Amino acid sequence: MTKILAISNQKGGVGKTTTAVNLSAALGMKGKKVLLVDLDPQGNATSSSGLEKNKIKQTVYDLLINDLDVTEVICKGKLYDVMPANQNLAAAELEMINIKHREALLKNKLHQKNKYDYILLDCPPSLGLITLNGLTAAHSVLIPMQCEYFALEGLTDLVNTIKKVKQFMNTDIQIEGLLRTIYDGRNTLTKEVSAQLSAYFPNKVYKTIVPRNVRIAEAPSHGLSAIQFDKRSKGAKAYLELANEIILKEKNND
Ligand code: ADP
Ligand code: MG
Repeated sequence: MTKILAISNQKGGVGKTTTAVNLSAALGMKGKKVLLVDLDPQGNATSSSGLEKNKIKQTVYDLLINDLDVTEVICKGKLYDVMPANQNLAAAELEMINIKHREALLKNKLHQKNKYDYILLDCPPSLGLITLNGLTAAHSVLIPMQCEYFALEGLTDLVNTIKKVKQFMNTDIQIEGLLRTIYDGRNTLTKEVSAQLSAYFPNKVYKTIVPRNVRIAEAPSHGLSAIQFDKRSKGAKAYLELANEIILKEKNND
């Protein structure tokens, strides 16, 4: 069965796109069939995967608004396939308003038979209709977090949104896990927030920590994941470890 994971946090710059791209590549390296869906009009996951977002004809916008099939919108890649996005997607948020069951447009497309083991959704930094589509389509949510002062406050908003989605749109949705990203272990505040996170969400915080690592930040400008750019880097190793953790969890749940 396909597992659909939404990578979401309404805060920007916490490592959502980096996680979506690198986890897709890491799962691909482990032999899984992966589709990365870019749900952010900024199209960072698309360009980080080596695609020219403004030259692509068919994007996730066409899937949602023009009723194209999943197969018509996919760009095939070496380690993982991509459903790209660009600035067009910003208009979808408005255009969806008049569509019936607008929160389930993505779900209706992704829940059709497909060849993927994992579908990863790179959500935008907001809790609008596009994110709602992501959360309605997903089996679970992976939340990347930077362990900073306001991180826990933002988390409460996200958890409340997930609760509402669970109540009204997607009764089965779960929090898959909280991932500590851009982590600097020398920083005392980071360590404190990290400890609080584990206390509030026991069993939900991944053992894997993604360190702040310059190779991760450099990779997108080459149109590559860090896994492909420098698989020996600390950042690449962390995402490969995360893929193991996720695959193992899946096995134990079977
Ligand atoms: P989001 O999608 O949540 O807005 P991004 O994944 O785009 O966040 O990350 C924001 C910025 O931080 C990007 O420039 C990215 O390259 C950088 N970044 C993300 N993770 C790391 C990391 N572990 N180490 C160093 N830089 C990182
Ligand atoms: Mg992003």
